[in-house]
Amino acid sequence: MIRIRKRTTAPALLTTLGTADRLRLEGIFSANPVACQAPRNQQLAAKPAIYGAAAVKAALAADQHGKCCYCESKFEATGFGDVEHFRPKAGVRQQPKSALEKPGYYWLAYEWSNLLYSCEICNRRHKSNWFPLLNPAHRARQHDDPLWRERPLLPHPCRTDPAAELTFNRHVAVEKNQSAWGAACIWAYGLNRPALNRRREESLEKLELALFVASLDIDAMSEAHRQTTLTMLNMSLAEVRRFITNAQVVRKQAALDSAEYAGMVRANFPHLPRR
Ligand SMILES: [Zn+2]
Repeated sequence: MIRIRKRTTAPALLTTLGTADRLRLEGIFSANPVACQAPRNQQLAAKPAIYGAAAVKAALAADQHGKCCYCESKFEATGFGDVEHFRPKAGVRQQPKSALEKPGYYWLAYEWSNLLYSCEICNRRHKSNWFPLLNPAHRARQHDDPLWRERPLLPHPCRTDPAAELTFNRHVAVEKNQSAWGAACIWAYGLNRPALNRRREESLEKLELALFVASLDIDAMSEAHRQTTLTMLNMSLAEVRRFITNAQVVRKQAALDSAEYAGMVRANFPHLPRR
């Protein structure tokens, strides 16, 4: 995870159709709160055609550089991606296995600040409806309740820098300074799931090779050393120069917000440029 810098102006659809539907949902709740709090009821189902519209998804994807807000994987070649609600819209669990509490944060279903772009695995298999609070008695239960009383146990990636709580031991995510937030993130988002760890490990090994190649100065070598290097690589001098140039580009981009697994890269190579 890294801090996400989203555009401040919401896609128009959310403020037009989204606002109208939020008022509709609030009216349904106000008319019959008991029915909306009943287990498994669908009274306050938000409309995916609005919060998950192509324009909303495209804006989130652009702001997050095509990466999942939690695991930082670039998944668009193999997955549709979810519009993730940081505060769950349809029901909430204080504990991962506790009962689903209704109605959830229905009034935030179209709220731009509550929306993120996530891979299906982080959203559906891991975070899902889990949204723990330090004091669950302070949870907002309906649209008139204040959110400021809540102290979420998961950091919002747009509001806090996860690097203060979460770091990496090579490719493995670890909490920083025994941070409860960091530990909660790793657990909630499945940041050490085996397949993800393998991807990060491969990515780290490729980067280490690129950093080594980027540091080579083929023109400063003695003629004998240069010939030995070219023979060992089975490449021409022009090919090696191109190889080094490409590696230098990798080095320049590896820790930018747009880079896959930038959080891991920054933890391992804090000297690499971030902008
Ligand atoms: Zn993910």
